[in-house]
Amino acid sequence: MKDNWVRSTVRDIPLYYNPKTKAVRMDTSVNVLGPNTVVKDVLTRCMGLDLNQYPAPYSDDLRGALAEKYGLAADNFVVGNGSDEALDIAFKSFMEPGETVVAPYPSYVLHGFFVKVNGGRFVNVDLRPGFQLDPDALLKAKGKIIILCTPNNPTANCFDHRDVERVVSEHDGPVIVDEAYGEFAKDSFMSRVEEFDNLIVTRTFSKAYGLAGFRVGYMASNLKMAGVMQRVKIPYSLDRVSEMTAVAALTNTSYVDAAVKLVRSERDRLSDGLRSMGFTPFPSESNFIMFRSPRPSAELVKRLADKGVLIRDFGRLRMLEDCVRTTIGTKELNDLLLGKLKEVTEEW
Ligand SMILES: *Cc1c(COP(=O)(O)O)cnc(C)c1O
Repeated sequence: MKDNWVRSTVRDIPLYYNPKTKAVRMDTSVNVLGPNTVVKDVLTRCMGLDLNQYPAPYSDDLRGALAEKYGLAADNFVVGNGSDEALDIAFKSFMEPGETVVAPYPSYVLHGFFVKVNGGRFVNVDLRPGFQLDPDALLKAKGKIIILCTPNNPTANCFDHRDVERVVSEHDGPVIVDEAYGEFAKDSFMSRVEEFDNLIVTRTFSKAYGLAGFRVGYMASNLKMAGVMQRVKIPYSLDRVSEMTAVAALTNTSYVDAAVKLVRSERDRLSDGLRSMGFTPFPSESNFIMFRSPRPSAELVKRLADKGVLIRDFGRLRMLEDCVRTTIGTKELNDLLLGKLKEVTEEW
C-alpha cells in the first residue's frame, strides 16, 4: 500500500482508547448498577425468535416506544447502533466533503472522528472559564454544522440552556445536541425538536439504561430532517435482540430511576472525598466527575491502575492539564476508589 492511497482526511486518525486491563473500570462512565434488569428476560424470549430473518430496517418497534415516551411521532426518531452511529448518520446526511463542523473544546473526542471519517473539517472553539459555551465564537466560526454535548464529556457540567438555545436559534445550519448523559441532568432539548428547523438531539441506551454492550442509540429531529437521515442510515444496522432489549428497558423505569438516585446521592460524597485529599473536583451534572490532580495525572492513573482501579487520564489536553475523569460508582466502588487514591497520595 502507498501512503497516498489513504484518503487525506483520515491519514492521522489514531485507534480509539482501548486499555488492556483487569482493573475495575471506572473510566467509561457506564452504569455501575450492572446490566439493565430486563436483559435476562429479553434474552430468554429471544431464543424463540426467527433470527434467520432480518430485523425491521428502521427499528419501528423501538421508534414507536420512543415516540410514546417523549410525546413525539415515531418518524421524529432515527435509531442507530449506538448514538455513535446516529452522529455518523447526521454528518453523512448534512455535511459535504470539505465542509466545516464547529464544536466546543474540550469535549467528546469521537465528534471530531465522525467529522473526519466523513471527509469534513473539524474546528474547535474554546469553552469559557467554568467550561461554559462561547455562543458568539461558535456562531462566528461559520461552520455548516455545530455539535455540542450537554452534559459535556469529559467536564461533566451542563451548558447554560440559554446559550445552547441561542446557538440553535441563530445558526443557519444543523445543530446537534448530544445528550448521552441527559437522564442524569435536569435540562434537555429533546421536547423541543419540532420547534426548530435545524435541531438534532442524540441519546443512548449505553449510560443510564445500562446497555452499553448492546449498542443502541437514537436521535430526534423535526420530521423533515429525520426523514432525510432515515434514508441515509444503513438499513438493519440495529439487530433485533438489541432492539427488543431497548424497548423493554424503556418501560423499566425503576432501573434508570435507581441509577439517577444513586448518582445524586454519591456525587457530593465522592467530590468531598476527593477534595479532602487535595484534588480539585469540578461541578458535575452527570454520572462522572472530572478532577484535577496536584501531581502529574498520568502517573496518578498508572499507580491507581496498578492497584486495580482504572480511571481516565485527560491530562495531556490543553485546558485539562493534570485532569482525570472517573465514573461515579456505587458506595462500595467509590470507597474503593477513594481508598486507593489515599494510598497513592500517601506514597507521594
Ligand atoms: C458515551 C457517549 C456517546 C456514545 O454512546 P453510544 O450510544 O454508546 O454510541 C455519545 N456521546 C457522548 C458524549 C458519550 O459520552
